[in-house]
Amino acid sequence: MQKYEKLEKIGEGTYGTVFKGRNRETMEIVALKRVRLDEDDEGVPSSALREICLLKELKHKNIVRLYDVLHSDKKLTLVFEHCDQDLKKYFDSLNGEIDMAVCRSFMLQLLRGLAFCHSHNVLHRDLKPQNLLINKNGELKLADFGLARAFGIPVKCYSAEVVTLWYRPPDVLFGAKLYTTSIDMWSAGCIFAELADAGRPLFPGSDVLDQLMKIFRVLGTPTEESWPGVTHLADYVALPSFPPITSWSQIVPRLNSKGRDLLQKLLVCRPNQRISAEQAMQHPYFTESSSSNH
Ligand code: ADP
Ligand code: MG
Repeated sequence: MQKYEKLEKIGEGTYGTVFKGRNRETMEIVALKRVRLDEDDEGVPSSALREICLLKELKHKNIVRLYDVLHSDKKLTLVFEHCDQDLKKYFDSLNGEIDMAVCRSFMLQLLRGLAFCHSHNVLHRDLKPQNLLINKNGELKLADFGLARAFGIPVKCYSAEVVTLWYRPPDVLFGAKLYTTSIDMWSAGCIFAELADAGRPLFPGSDVLDQLMKIFRVLGTPTEESWPGVTHLADYVALPSFPPITSWSQIVPRLNSKGRDLLQKLLVCRPNQRISAEQAMQHPYFTESSSSNH
């Protein structure tokens, strides 16, 4: 820790507290994340440490760089690239209006970061606006990539706040244990809708059942026909059978038709039918001509 000077606290999250910091040699400003683990007394598991050290190699302009992993006295501090703010705070500053060109730019950068990590077989598993960091120059970077695999996703934050379910796909809510890149694509869809609606969350569920109900009221309740195997998932429960909505213009009124088409390809209940990040980046929504509103 001699290498970094700890400055003010920036925030608190799933695994611990984040401080602003400064590299004493280069004077560079960084973010220091003190990770607290349940097994704090036992020290940091070596498997987690190995996972984390691999993340230092994940270098891309849309991924928050992990510069250093400091492990001493059974304590773990992760040293990250510092960004100006997170997307949630950005939403709060918007007063309900977002420039649709900004929405599109953020979405494309989100997909580029995802495509890069997925191509290196690293999943996020906990994408949410607080984990999308932005800079004043309009750059967007994904934070906390790979941490879920190393540490797991606890039910409660270290600060006792409940971990949000809003960006979790139906397969995970139904207890699917096989984690794939499709998890992040669902979260990206939820975030896309939220971007297009200036920060109003698409599915703000209060618990697992409410979360599933909110999803199925829009997309329709899945069946063995639409999603083979769904009824065999570990935590499957039969829910009222809702039909899919017919008009997406009510859900995301400001999004043009190409954007709505991309959104529907992300928000697919059956995980293996969800569009990949690589495919999504090629979607016509991102080509020049779709800057029009319709
Ligand atoms: P969460 O579990 O919500 O992702 P974190 O512990 O990752 O919580 O971070 C808490 C808050 O600290 C974030 O919401 C963000 O506002 C801020 N933060 C985290 N990492 C950085 C960073 N690299 N640069 C600037 N701010 C950060
Ligand atoms: Mg975070």
